[in-house]
Amino acid sequence: MKILKKIIDVLELRNRIYSKNKILGFVPTMGALHDGHISLIRRSVKENDYTIVSIFVNPTQFNDKNDLENYPRTEERDIKMLENAGCDFAFLPDVIEMYPESDNKIFDFDGIDMLMEGKHRKGHFNGVAQIVYKFFDLISPNKAYFGKKDFQQLAIIQLLVKKYMNESGIEVIPCEIVREEDGLAMSSRNLLLSEEHRKVAPLIHKVLKDCSNKYNDILPEEIERKVISDINSNKLLKVEYFEIVDNSTLLPAANIIPGETTGCIAVYAGNIRLIDNITF
Ligand code: AMP
Repeated sequence: MKILKKIIDVLELRNRIYSKNKILGFVPTMGALHDGHISLIRRSVKENDYTIVSIFVNPTQFNDKNDLENYPRTEERDIKMLENAGCDFAFLPDVIEMYPESDNKIFDFDGIDMLMEGKHRKGHFNGVAQIVYKFFDLISPNKAYFGKKDFQQLAIIQLLVKKYMNESGIEVIPCEIVREEDGLAMSSRNLLLSEEHRKVAPLIHKVLKDCSNKYNDILPEEIERKVISDINSNKLLKVEYFEIVDNSTLLPAANIIPGETTGCIAVYAGNIRLIDNITF
């Protein structure tokens, strides 16, 4: 696997790949890799001639300075994991390489960036869009892989390509959520959980799964109340929001329509913020 740090090297690589008419898959990550990331990378390796993975903790998507500073960084281990997964190129730029000057590009996502995560993390999705736009523009992948774990982010990226990069032909590939054996959605932030919070965190998925199995004929607001109260009943967990939304508009769903409705949740386990979702 080749490690690249500079934009110029990526440009050169991309031109080489395209002059040979090869297909390039791209997986953007913030590192502290786990099997959720690896599932995206393996899929890209399978479906493309070459795979490039970026590891970049993107400052513009953090609305909380402490969160950015404390975000786990495990570069050496990440590189070994990428090699084992069959990745061809790892792109690890410095902040100054990606943001030579402060970036003021503002995207208009028709309001879907203001819902749920956007309501609680001001400016988050604009920051995500800034970096993904830069990466897409630079790398021009044929396919780009994103996890459904970040349900709203996936919707934003799909809209980013449709609205701002329609000519690029980049295909956004949604990938299933990978979980720990006890059901907790894999996340780099799980590394930051204390032992006692790690123990109780699987309750989030358990409650979501129970509600999706049992409450199909109950109104969404009632399910929302029950999920929030079941999770909050554990004193170590605190729900920030749980919203049942229509998959295409991300607006509150009037009714549950199987396959078209998703419950999205953010929960604090101590001061670590975890997100998850379940499609009914
Ligand atoms: P991150 O490093 O958290 O920015 O994640 C990079 C990519 O991996 C995003 O597309 C995430 O949605 C995806 N991802 C993170 N966790 C999981 C998981 N547990 N299962 C599947 N995909 C994931």
